[in-house]
Amino acid sequence: MDNFFDVIVIGAGFAGLTAARELSHAGRRVAVLEARDRIGGRTWLDERLGLDLELGGTWVHWTQPYVWTELHRYGIGLAPSPEPRNAYWWDGSRAVDGDPDALLTLLDRPNDLLAARSREVFPQPFAPLSSPLLGELDDVGLLDQIGRLPLSAQERSLLESFWTLNVNGRIDDAALTQALRWVALTNGDWKVMFEACATYKIAGGTRALLDAMRDDIRADIHLRSDVRSIQQSEDGVAVTIADGTVFHAGDVVLAVPLQTLPRISFAPALADAVTEAAQRGQLGLGTKIWFTIEGERPPFVALGAADWPLNFFQSEYVADGKTFVIGFGRDAHAIDPDDTAAIQDVLGRLVPDAVVVDSVGHSWVDDEYAQETWPMHRTGYLTRALPALQAPHGRVRLAGADIADGWGGFIDGAIESGMKAASAIVTATTPVAV
Ligand SMILES: Cc1cc2nc3c(=O)[nH]c(=O)nc-3n(C[C@H](O)[C@H](O)[C@H](O)COP(=O)(O)OP(=O)(O)OC[C@H]3O[C@@H](n4cnc5c(N)ncnc54)[C@H](O)[C@@H]3O)c2cc1C
Repeated sequence: MDNFFDVIVIGAGFAGLTAARELSHAGRRVAVLEARDRIGGRTWLDERLGLDLELGGTWVHWTQPYVWTELHRYGIGLAPSPEPRNAYWWDGSRAVDGDPDALLTLLDRPNDLLAARSREVFPQPFAPLSSPLLGELDDVGLLDQIGRLPLSAQERSLLESFWTLNVNGRIDDAALTQALRWVALTNGDWKVMFEACATYKIAGGTRALLDAMRDDIRADIHLRSDVRSIQQSEDGVAVTIADGTVFHAGDVVLAVPLQTLPRISFAPALADAVTEAAQRGQLGLGTKIWFTIEGERPPFVALGAADWPLNFFQSEYVADGKTFVIGFGRDAHAIDPDDTAAIQDVLGRLVPDAVVVDSVGHSWVDDEYAQETWPMHRTGYLTRALPALQAPHGRVRLAGADIADGWGGFIDGAIESGMKAASAIVTATTPVAV
């Protein structure tokens, strides 16, 4: 009976680990199947360039209730990123340097115009599908909406680049509702939303929270267990991994990234709307690159043009005579994380005296178990995809940052979805595995 469980959780990112903990604490016999040789999924603290660096998800905030609860549960604090002392930006036609507050002020009016209706559209941001305005707005594109705003050329350039950063991808097909939902989650204040995205790291890194959760799970986590098929019958669910081993359970929580669903064969097939959503995919197809520059410089941020290979930079650490900087760009294939000359070229457009030394990054888009960075929705996602993704597929429930109600795309959303999947199973079933 070794391979028979009450619930199989597929994926050991924050969503899967949360579901496994909740289910095992509720007395269910649980197995976690994870394709990688590590837990954490799209969060990964690893030693690179001589320091422990977050290659994936990083920042959290007290406006994010699920991750905040977890930090308190395990007594883990915050590690603030340095407050920038200098800012550099592209004003649409030339490079400018100045005070970080000056850059925020330039971004203020365009963001306020863009997000003016955020609370009206999402009066309850954790119940996005209850919005009476979804039908009217969910097919409106973010770039189109920016194009309609009464902005100067400089404001338009800055706003497009700012939202390209947030989307980590092209904003042509991004949903306006995604932007409005983010800002609604911080009570309509885009600056708090921005603070939530890039200011407070987890003390000890994401690994600290992942390890605390893993140690709290009363179940085996099977690493290197790449699930290739999920078959449901009247008796339950049979889950087969790449080496042919079959696991059986009454229920399954499938906590893998949306774009990886086509790697798994399903019998019966997934609902058409789910298959279509997975094929259409998310917009977070960009890059996050760490690099060092010569000298220990005061903290800085830099915002370039939306279509540059890297359009946002934020320095994080100084050590050993070097400054450690993160760069974000909208297209993972537009720049190689190892290409210091290309990084030098694009950073030099804003910070000409910076000398790039070395660099590193993980291509989440080319990683078969991720295929996306942080999930950012296309137009129509909330109305046509999310309800189907959240609905049970027989005995299989999806979880993950892709399908959260609140902070979709964030660590918080992953935890939220794991809590909800586990709660639905605990409510509907009694333990049966022996
Ligand atoms: C570069 C980057 C920066 C980010 N920055 C932030 C940030 O600052 N703050 C924030 O809150 N969020 C951030 N995010 C987003 C955040 O990391 C994710 O939303 C969140 O970690 C997703 O958790 P998840 O459990 O839903 O999915 P994942 O973490 O992707 O976990 C899914 C797991 O399923 C496994 N898996 C996939 N297919 C299979 C299979 N067939 N069989 C078995 N296992 C499988 C994967 O290996 C993975 O471990 C960032 C993400 C990236 C990539």
